[in-house]
Formats: sequence, C-alpha cells, structure tokens
Amino acid sequence: MLKTFVFKFGGASVKDAESIKNLSRILYNRLRNHTVIVVSAMGKTTNALEVILEKKLLGEDYSLNITNLMGFHLEICKDLFDTAHSIHYQIENHFIQLSRELQQDLNRDNFDQIYDEVIANGELLATRIVQEYLCTQNIFCLWQDARELIHSNSDYRFATVDWKITSQKIKKQLVPLLEKFPVVTQGFIAREKNGRTTTLGREGSDFSAAILAACLHARSVTIWKDVEGVLNADPKRFPNTVKFDELDYQEAAELTYYGASVIHPKTIKPLANLSIPLYVKSFLEPHKSGTIIHKVPYTNSIPCIVVKDEQVLVSFKVTDFSFIDEGHIHQVYANLKLLKLKVNMLQISAISISIVIDKQLFKLEKLIEILKEQFEIRYNESLQLLTVKNHNPEIIEELMKHREVFMEQVTRSTFQMVTKPLQ
Ligand code: ASP
Ligand code: MG
Repeated sequence: MLKTFVFKFGGASVKDAESIKNLSRILYNRLRNHTVIVVSAMGKTTNALEVILEKKLLGEDYSLNITNLMGFHLEICKDLFDTAHSIHYQIENHFIQLSRELQQDLNRDNFDQIYDEVIANGELLATRIVQEYLCTQNIFCLWQDARELIHSNSDYRFATVDWKITSQKIKKQLVPLLEKFPVVTQGFIAREKNGRTTTLGREGSDFSAAILAACLHARSVTIWKDVEGVLNADPKRFPNTVKFDELDYQEAAELTYYGASVIHPKTIKPLANLSIPLYVKSFLEPHKSGTIIHKVPYTNSIPCIVVKDEQVLVSFKVTDFSFIDEGHIHQVYANLKLLKLKVNMLQISAISISIVIDKQLFKLEKLIEILKEQFEIRYNESLQLLTVKNHNPEIIEELMKHREVFMEQVTRSTFQMVTKPLQ
C-alpha cells in the first residue's frame, strides 16, 4: 500500500482568488506524491445552484443567477491565470453545459435526480480551477472525476456508497495515478450504476475524503477549515469557545450526529474502523496544531453546544381515542424510512408522537399525504434544535433565556430543546 495522505478543502478555503493562493501555499510544503486533494464547491456556489433549481421549479427566470455564478468563477480565474490560459474557455463551456442540463423538464418526481446532476457542477468547476492553478505554481497534479471512483446507489441527494465497487475502482484507477502525482478530485459527488450523478448529502465532501482515505488505507486525513479546530460550540454563535486538542472518534461522531457542522456525520466511522487519524486544522493558521480525532483513552467532560437550524417539529396525534402503541410508532417510522427522513429528536406521549426532522423540499408534504388518514398532523417550521452534551444548570438557564421552547428532553449527559431561533 502507498503511504497516502488525504487533504480536504471546503468551500470557504476556495472562496476567492486569495484563498486559492493560500491553498497552494499550504500544499507547497506539505505535498508528497501520494496525496489526494479533495475540493468542494467554491464559497457559496452550492447554495447558488440550489437557488437556480428552486427558481426553475417555480418557473421563474434564473438567467441572471447563472450569469452571476459564471461571473464569480471567471473573476477568480482572471486573478489567478493569464488571459491566454485555457481555463477561461473551460469555465464558459462548463456553464453552457449547465444551461443545457437546466433545459430538462423539472418536477416533483425527478427533482432529486436533476438536483444532483446540476449541483455537482460546483465541485467540478472548483477542482478544475484548483488543479490548473496548482500546475501553474509548479505543483504538478492530476484532475480526477470522483464519480469514476465513488459508486453509490440511486438515492439521489443522500446516496449510499457501494464500498465494494468504490474500493475496487480506487485501487485500480486512483492508485496508479497517485504513484506518480498528487491527485485533485471532488468531494460530495458519486455515480450510480446507470452512470447518473449522485451526491452524498450536503457538506458531504468530508465524507468523500474519508471514503478515499479508507479505501487507500491512508496515513491521515486533514480537513482545512476556517476555524482553529473542533470547538465546543460554534464561535459565530457563542462566546468563549474552547478548542479540543484531541477528541475521541466516538465523541466526535456524537457531536456531528447532533449537528456540529465542523465535520460531516458520516466521516468518522470509516476512519475509526481503520484507526486513521483525522486532523481538523485552520487554513488561516496552518502552522497551528488544530484538533486530532483519534482513539483517546478518556472521555471529555467539557460542555459542548450544538445547534441545528431549519428544523421541523411534526406531531402525529391519534384521532380514534386510542393510545399510542408500537403499531403507530412503526407506521410513522416506516414512512420516514421510505422518504429517507432522519429523526433528530423523538418524544412520545399517551396520544401523540412528536418528531424533529430536517426541512426537505416536498418530503413533509409527502409524509402528511401518506399519514393524514391515521393521524391528526401538525407541524412547526424554521425551528432550531439545540443539544448540550455534558450540560450543567448554568448553561441550560442561559440558553433558555428569551427562547420559546417547543419541546425538551434531558438525559444524564445530554440536554436537547427545540426552539424558535433568537431574532
Ligand atoms: N459543496 C457541497 C455543499 O456545500 C459539499 C461540501 O461542501 O462538502 O454542501
Ligand atoms: Mg460546500
């Protein structure tokens, strides 16, 4: 096996020309031949593509959005490359292709499939720009379409990886390239058996890095972030955060499960299984040590606060004067599974089941349609789910101040509440 290293650069680390220059400086001293560089879409490109899809669905004009997004990428290229460089044409051609993809009929039934095809363009563009730029900086590296490596089922937007085929492809296709040069590839995107593009869930590039690392038995994965490492709360929302120097796989996985956005939830497991260390480091202060996630023999007792936005609280009330039993729970859960909706919090009373789920286009409507005969269904949107691990009374009191609480739950180690976001 090669001694491979996997680096992952997210949207914020490639958000403008300056950031890409910074990325290249980070790589300059750290690059060995056997390095995979996973890059996600630049800045807020994925969100911009989502807006285009929504407009298309509503029959609104999105041409200006496309022009702006192309302008954003071209502007960055103007700063990074000579005018004669082929990248400028490559980007323009890419946008012609994107416009073509958007000419397809889009409806409720094919939305997820076309979403994946369109949204993948963010990663494809970003990796082209980064790879071409690194070459101009004498960091010679190759571009690889991640869809040729990572195979999945056809659950568009939330595809499940086919580890067997993926591992074979990586060994056959990626290893020979890595023997010669570092490789730049996309995060987040994959391919299903009929050749269509799939994606692994929003912010899925971290997971892609972990998949590649696991299949290559890599020495380590490094995720470059705009924060100094894994913190005990989001510094944009809470003061006095603490950085962890190290964190156990299990602990990190739990935080991501509750919604800690620093790492995608699926990232930890494949790495933990093979004891591959995961470094979370700042691309702004790359010399600092950041956080290492690996096997740690003690448990952390520092309180951690995790906030999940855009939550929907749905309650299912029985209408026939019976009480909630296993049958009702099964009915609700079976349909959640069918719609690939994950429950972030659950509470059961004598006559109702309440669940908290992520907001997803059309899914709630479909769920209500299926279950409206059996239950009286009510829901509240635009809520926040707050989880405190290792809670104490002061933190909870502080958090509850000024908040309207819809539902709460306490265990010895974890406190959770669903609230309206603070204005
Ligand atoms: N670009 C994708 C997203 O913003 C994937 C990623 O950034 O990891 O969700
Ligand atoms: Mg992104």
